[in-house]
Amino acid sequence: MPLHLPFDTTYLTLPDRFYTQQAPTPVSDPALIVFNHALADQLGLDTAQMTDTGAAALFSGNDVPDTARPFAQVYAGHQFGGFSPQLGDGRAVHLGEIDSPVGRVDLQLKGAGRTPYSRSGDGRAWVGPVIREYIMSCAMHALGIPTTRALAAVTTGDPVLREQGPLPGAVLTRVAASHIRVGTFQFFAARGDKDALQALTDYTIARHYPEADGPAGLLDAVLARQASLIAKWMAHGFIHGVMNTDNVQIAGETIDYGPCAFMDVYHPDTVFSSIDYQGRYAYSNQPSVTHWNLAQFATALVPIMPDQDEAIERFTEIINRFPAAYQTQWQAEFAAKLGLGAGDGDGTYALAQDLLTQMAHSQMDFTKTFADLDQTATSLPDWHGKWRAANPDDALWRSTNPKVIPRTHMIEQAIGAATDGDYAPFHALLSAVSAPFEPAPEFMRPPTEAQKVRQTFCGT
Ligand code: AMP
Ligand code: MG
Repeated sequence: MPLHLPFDTTYLTLPDRFYTQQAPTPVSDPALIVFNHALADQLGLDTAQMTDTGAAALFSGNDVPDTARPFAQVYAGHQFGGFSPQLGDGRAVHLGEIDSPVGRVDLQLKGAGRTPYSRSGDGRAWVGPVIREYIMSCAMHALGIPTTRALAAVTTGDPVLREQGPLPGAVLTRVAASHIRVGTFQFFAARGDKDALQALTDYTIARHYPEADGPAGLLDAVLARQASLIAKWMAHGFIHGVMNTDNVQIAGETIDYGPCAFMDVYHPDTVFSSIDYQGRYAYSNQPSVTHWNLAQFATALVPIMPDQDEAIERFTEIINRFPAAYQTQWQAEFAAKLGLGAGDGDGTYALAQDLLTQMAHSQMDFTKTFADLDQTATSLPDWHGKWRAANPDDALWRSTNPKVIPRTHMIEQAIGAATDGDYAPFHALLSAVSAPFEPAPEFMRPPTEAQKVRQTFCGT
């Protein structure tokens, strides 16, 4: 019995230059790796009659429900600073939207075959990136960081050819508030298509920011969500890795888990991505890159404003608020990590900065240091004295700092095993990162020198 998915897709009411209707390409032998029952419940899906075979057929794209009108979205984007006027879902197909109890969401199959936006790509994904995104997005959600979600992962039975050779193919079912990106606006702005820009702006406001007053209100609201999101990334040592404008989602969720990672040893200059030669998307650059990405968003909105000069002035004023908005969020995050109230701004800021400086100097593990803050009594006695003098709430910092994050070497181990058909390590890691505040000794240890992963790959 297949799962009934009550699609109600509003994106298709936008002009047809926003997408191409495109069915997923069938696969040979779909098999279910994992299904997110908790998420299905939140979405109000009735899974009582669902079988693994039915789920595999559905989430591989082999069984397209009658209510679905599958399509691929077009967008553009600044990639590492250079503008690509034509990108799009090259390996993803949208099944549609569900108007769920937790809000309207997109259901997208990632790895579902070629689309008109695939360029030279095969439209497929292999099991490695699928597992990485599944684990990462579950961990982010459990940590309270806004993120797209993973509903299911399936293997396809078809090999996917990558640099390493043939690898097992897989498809991830991604659930997102929407897939509208800064790059979606840029696509139409770059073509001077004002009608489309206006339609997209109206649609986005109605769907995500109904309280926003026109493009300026939208910009303001998106900026606030990004400031909050990036502060949370920073507070958890998360490095996205590819903060191109096509990977900046307007609804403010973390999207596109490519060469991302949680830092082990803290250093502000940390970069993992093998393609980030300049360190453009290094940990400490994430706020300034976001500021820049928001400026690109503002630029894309200018053409629909009645008075361009006035719009530029007004948008510049809004964009210039980002550093302060981010700083406020950062301080709130780090105050909680230290068990302190947000009230004492400057003192808390100095204490947090002081700790980070010493952590970098002494090559301390980011997650472990915060989870075991009381142990700074031996490692950093002077700092510990100052912190204690600020009268921290022990229950607060203990409940704020996770014990378990998906460390890169653990993800790599899970991927290695899955490639050989053994999903036990994946399931064990998934269950540990889904309860990040519970002690799970096996998953709390930083990597040994030999286990350290120094680079991550896009490896689609
Ligand atoms: P991303 O790495 O997800 O930011 O993707 C950048 C662009 O490359 C997007 O337009 C993707 O749709 C496209 N792309 C990535 N991998 C593939 C693939 N295997 N086949 C086709 N298009 C791809
Ligand atoms: Mg992307």
